[in-house]
Amino acid sequence: MKVLEDLAALRAWRATRGELGFVPTMGALHEGHLTLVRRARQAAGQAVLVSIFVNPTQFGPSEDLASYPRTLERDLELCRETGCDAVYAPGPEDMYRAGATSFVEVGAVAEPLCGQFRPGHFRGVATVVAKLFLRAQPQRAYFGEKDYQQLQVIRTLVRDLDFPVEVVGVPTVRETDGLAMSSRNLRLSPSERLKATRIYAALQAGPSPEAAREVLRAAGIEPQYLELVDPDTLLPKPWPLQGRGVLAVAAYVGNVRLIDNLAFEGA
Ligand code: AMP
Repeated sequence: MKVLEDLAALRAWRATRGELGFVPTMGALHEGHLTLVRRARQAAGQAVLVSIFVNPTQFGPSEDLASYPRTLERDLELCRETGCDAVYAPGPEDMYRAGATSFVEVGAVAEPLCGQFRPGHFRGVATVVAKLFLRAQPQRAYFGEKDYQQLQVIRTLVRDLDFPVEVVGVPTVRETDGLAMSSRNLRLSPSERLKATRIYAALQAGPSPEAAREVLRAAGIEPQYLELVDPDTLLPKPWPLQGRGVLAVAAYVGNVRLIDNLAFEGA
């Protein structure tokens, strides 16, 4: 497995490969990420590239960029074991030219849910993913449904800007007690870790947002948002649910912000 530390190394490696499956990550890899890698490996004849980059432009000034877990050596080992062909792990100076002023805005789909509480977050995500796509030139890219709004942002980006990339959404991988795997789970204390299991329990009480809210209330969790939305536009769906809906939640447990979602089919 090749470790590529800058754009020149990535370009040189890319030139030696044909079809490419790409898994962008911020590292602190867990079984959720590795499931994306395994899915990419299923496509016959496709090389698999993982990127590990904690992207500063998607963190707000009061967010957890400094405390975001960084476990590069272990990540490389996991990628090696899972059969990645290469890992692109650039530093911020490789990704962003000093004084860069161009960004990608995807519009409406980035505005509700997390968009309301993390101004600029999806602009940072869309910008870095567009740059990564241009740098790596993958045929396919794999994203988790756990970050449901992010997946819709990327689908919109690819469609609107004609990226020749197939976006593959992969179902959320959970711990045995239901908690969605997340790099941020590493920062939960044992009691917070237990409390966090109520987030998925709340979603399972859906699709009624009120029923879900009640489960959170009983656990002493005040959600930042808990909304039943259209799976494509992410606009609110009226209750009772007709057709498909996604119940999406964000909540702080201690000072760790967790998100999760669950899809439902109504009448
Ligand atoms: P991150 O490192 O958190 O930016 O995530 C990198 C990719 O892994 C994104 O496409 C995430 O949606 C995906 N991912 C993170 N956690 C999970 C999970 N529990 N199940 C499936 N995919 C996940």
